Amino acid sequence: MGQKKKESLNFIEQLIERDVKEGKFIKIQTRFPPEPNGYLHIGHAKSICLNFGLAQKYGGECNLRFDDTNPEKEETEYVNSIKEDIRWLGFDWGPSAYYTSDYFERLYQFAVRLIEKGSAYVDELSAVEFNKLKGSPTEPGKESPFRNRPIEENIKIFEAMRLGAFQDGERVLRAKIDMSSPNMHLRDPILYRIKHLAHHRTGSKWCIYPTYDFAHGQSDSIEQITHSLCTLEFEVHRPLYDWLIQQLEIYPSKQTEFARLNLSYTIVSKRSLRELVEGHYVAGWDDPRMPTISGIRRRGFTAKSIRKFTEIIGVARRNGITDVALLEHSVREDLNKTAHRIFGIMDPIKLIITNWPLDYQEVMMAENNPEDKTSGTRELPFTRELFIDRSDFLEDPPSPKKWFRLGPDREVRLKKGYIIKCTGFKKSENGEVVEIYAEYDPNTKSGQDMSGKKVKGTLGWVSAPNAVSAEIRMYDRLFLTENLDKIEDDFKTHLNPDSLTINNKAVLEPSVRHAQVGDQFQFERIGYFRVDEDSHYGKLIFNRTLALRDGWNKRNN
Ligand code: ATP
Ligand code: MG
Repeated sequence: MGQKKKESLNFIEQLIERDVKEGKFIKIQTRFPPEPNGYLHIGHAKSICLNFGLAQKYGGECNLRFDDTNPEKEETEYVNSIKEDIRWLGFDWGPSAYYTSDYFERLYQFAVRLIEKGSAYVDELSAVEFNKLKGSPTEPGKESPFRNRPIEENIKIFEAMRLGAFQDGERVLRAKIDMSSPNMHLRDPILYRIKHLAHHRTGSKWCIYPTYDFAHGQSDSIEQITHSLCTLEFEVHRPLYDWLIQQLEIYPSKQTEFARLNLSYTIVSKRSLRELVEGHYVAGWDDPRMPTISGIRRRGFTAKSIRKFTEIIGVARRNGITDVALLEHSVREDLNKTAHRIFGIMDPIKLIITNWPLDYQEVMMAENNPEDKTSGTRELPFTRELFIDRSDFLEDPPSPKKWFRLGPDREVRLKKGYIIKCTGFKKSENGEVVEIYAEYDPNTKSGQDMSGKKVKGTLGWVSAPNAVSAEIRMYDRLFLTENLDKIEDDFKTHLNPDSLTINNKAVLEPSVRHAQVGDQFQFERIGYFRVDEDSHYGKLIFNRTLALRDGWNKRNN
C-alpha cells in the first residue's frame, strides 16, 4: 500500500539504459522516417510515440526524416499532412525536418566509395536474366557476368548513369557481397536504379535514385542516429544495413526491430488506404472512418488518448493483433473527463406539459461535466413544449419493475427538471404516436425536491422552442471482419455497409448554439460527438466519435 509501482521497461528501453550505462552515447538520437506517399495512420502513431517518446524520456532528440527516395508516388501534400499529424500528436522535431533527398549527393559519393573499394559494380542484366540468376531462398544465386568489371569502368558507367546516358532499367548499381548467401538481401542487392522522373524536391536534377536499403542506413549514419527503430519485416535487412556502414566506415547506427501495430477491424497499410480513397469508398484520407491520424482526429479521437493507447500496448518483438476496443476505451476515458455534457435527442417526439403556463420559461442549471468540478455550468430553458426521445416512451409498456421510462400514467424525472406524469398521447392517422401529454409536479424541481417522491426513470429532454437542429453523422467501424491480416479475398468486400448513417432530425439543447469546429461533447446517455469541419453558418454538423459504451459485440452476435 502506498508503494509506488515500479516501472517496467520494454526491451528497447532496456537496451537504451544498458547503452547509456556503458557510456556508449552521450545523448540518444532517434528518428521517424516516413515515406511521403500517403497520410499517416494509427500504425505510424505507434512508431511516432515510440521514437519521439524515447527521445523525450532519455533527454535525446528525434529527427523527422522524409524518406523521399521514390519520385513516383511522393508529393508535397503528404509532407504537409505528415508534419501536421506529428505536431497534433504533441511532438516536435526541432528547427527543421530532414529529407533523404538532401543527401542525394552524399549518397552518390558513398556509392562511388563502394565502387572504388571493389564493393559495388554496375550491372546490365535484363530483368528476366536478373531474376534467373537471383536463385531462391533454398537455392543459391549465380554471379552476374558483369560482376568483375574493372573498378575504373564501373566508375565511368556509374557517372554516365547519373548524366542520363541510359534508359530506365538499362543499368543498376549493385553491392558486391555474396550471391550464395542464405539471406537474399545479401545477394548483390541493388543500390541505385535509373528513373527518368522528376522528384518533388530535386526536380529533374537526378535520374538515378538510391534504393531503400542504400538510402536508409546511410541517412541514419549521416544524422548520427544512435537507435534506428523499425518494424520486424526489416530484421532480414539488418545484415545489409551493417555491411554498408562497415564498408563505408561511417557512423555506426544500430537497427532494432519491434512488432508493427495491427489493429482488429482496421487496415493499417497506406497502399490499401489509398485504394479506399481513390475508389471513393470513403470521402478522403481524413474521412472520420479512416484509421489515418487525420481521420481519427476529425472523428474526435484525442491526441492524449492515442499516446495513452500506445503506452498501454507497449512494444514487443512478436507480431500480434491488438483489439481496437482498447483504443476506443482509451478515447472514452479521456473524453469522459473533458467533454462537456449536453442533452441531445436523436429521434425527437414532442412532450407537452399541459399544466405549465403557455409562454413561461424557467432556466434550469446543469454542470458542464460532473467529472470536472471546474468545468462550470450551463443553462437549460424549461418550457411547456419539450422534446424527448421516441425510444423513451411506450404506449403499452411492460411492468414498472422492468420499464422505468415513460408510458401512460407513468412517472419519470426530466433530468435537472421536474418529475412528470404522463396523462395521454396523440396518434396520427397511420397510428404513430406524435405527441405525448404530461403534468409536472411543481414540488419536485431538481435540487429543491421536498416531495419525497421516488421515480426510477430519468430522461433527457430539450426545450422545443429553443432546440437546435443538427446533422449527426453516425460513424461506426469501417470493416466487419476482425482480423483483416488473415483474409484471402479482396479486403474491400469486408467493408461495413453501415459505417455511416446520417441523422437529420436530431435536436440539441440551446447551449450548443455557440459550438465551434472541433468542440467535443458527450450527448448524455448516447455517446461522444465532435463538431465537424463541414459545419457552416446555419448548419451544425456533428461526427459521432463513439457510442457511450462498446455495443459492437452485443450487436453482431
Ligand atoms: P505502410 O505499409 O502503411 O505503407 P510503411 O512502413 O511503408 O507503412 P513508412 O512511411 O515507410 O510506411 O513508415 C514510416 C515508419 O513508420 C517506419 O519506421 C515504419 O516502420 C513505421 N510503421 C509503419 N507502419 C507501422 C505499424 N503498423 N506499426 C508500427 N510502425 C509502423
Ligand atoms: Mg514503406
